Amino acid sequence: MAVMKIKTHPAKVLKQVASAVKDIGGSTQRLIDDMIETMYEAEGIGLAAPQVGVSKRLIVVDTSVKDNVGGLMVIINPEIVYSEGDILSTEGCLSIPEFSATVERKAMLFVRGVDRDGKPLEIDAARLLARALQHEIDHLNGVLLLDKVNMEDKKQ
Ligand SMILES: [Zn+2]
Repeated sequence: MAVMKIKTHPAKVLKQVASAVKDIGGSTQRLIDDMIETMYEAEGIGLAAPQVGVSKRLIVVDTSVKDNVGGLMVIINPEIVYSEGDILSTEGCLSIPEFSATVERKAMLFVRGVDRDGKPLEIDAARLLARALQHEIDHLNGVLLLDKVNMEDKKQ
């Protein structure tokens, strides 16, 4: 395993819509291991593949350090199937150092995807996990925390 370099704004890869993962073989498994190590090294609670320069729909999340629930999750091709409620939360992003912002998120989520063995995953998420999943899935769509802030400014 190796710690990867985290891409920071305005890296182009952070603005791209990532493509679906079709092959969960050797190179994807290595990427997953490296992303996990990179996330822990950076003391983040989530990391999306575009943040390490790979435009693929793959995220790793572990909110257990801060929220005491859950644990390490690897989600390939995650999709928000259902969401409910609105909540304001203050977030940071490993790709935007020294920046945090309060943005609106859904309070609860139902997410589908595939785990690293190719098995279907279904996740009911609330609290910090719900926020982390929305943040990381935004990365797969080329959306950064900065864009969320700008969108909310426009709404007013
Ligand atoms: Zn981020």
